[in-house]
Amino acid sequence: MLRIDMSRAYLADAIPAATATLREMSATPSLSIKSFALGDFVTNAYVVFDPSDNAKSCWIIDCPYEPSAMIEAILRAGLKPELCILTHCHCDHIAGLAEMRLKLGPVPILCHVLEKDFNADPNLNLSAFIPPGLSAPEPEGYLAHGQVILLPGLGEYAFQVVHAPGHSPGMICLWCAQAELAFVGDTLFEDSIGRTDFPTSDPQAMDRSLRLLLTLPDATKIYPGHGSATTIGRERRSNPFLRALT
Ligand SMILES: [Zn+2]
Ligand SMILES: [Zn+2]
Repeated sequence: MLRIDMSRAYLADAIPAATATLREMSATPSLSIKSFALGDFVTNAYVVFDPSDNAKSCWIIDCPYEPSAMIEAILRAGLKPELCILTHCHCDHIAGLAEMRLKLGPVPILCHVLEKDFNADPNLNLSAFIPPGLSAPEPEGYLAHGQVILLPGLGEYAFQVVHAPGHSPGMICLWCAQAELAFVGDTLFEDSIGRTDFPTSDPQAMDRSLRLLLTLPDATKIYPGHGSATTIGRERRSNPFLRALT
């Protein structure tokens, strides 16, 4: 039996007790992550699923410009997207939503409430800098810090929503303690961090968010919004932006 370990100090201090959920795990499920680097901004989209799941449920995490390679892979594999979760709502993470919906059906879109207006507003989603700008389908629901989300059919892997503002106000990371991994959007990259010079960025909040991510165990695999996957341990040791924090 596996238990999500929230007794340790990783993120527990920052999470309201009422929303933190401990769940007994009945088996060790498998988890597959397919990554797609898409569009001119080379933004990563991820498809998360359990290969042994008969229902073939999956999540889509971010939906960049030129999403057809990801959409075709989902169709080829017969996967059924249950949710599309947006780490944040900058244009390079939302531009493929309309095409994705057209080809995969009405997949519910979720983001942090602080970015509820971003998809529709080219100034907020930064596409105003890239004429003619972009309005993407609006989210159906909102995620909050500390919320635990489970993918039906994904062997009950639990992902915890971690609010990590700085690059954008409603950035979320999705942390799965059981699988020792986190999707971190444009917060932390291999040897770098997300920009904090956009109109809705907040450099001080970014420092706090990075410190929060550094409370994760070194073995935690990091899936960023751009570039290669890495680990908390590697970045703790060699990322110059994290060294500058301490
Ligand atoms: Zn961004
Ligand atoms: Zn980005």
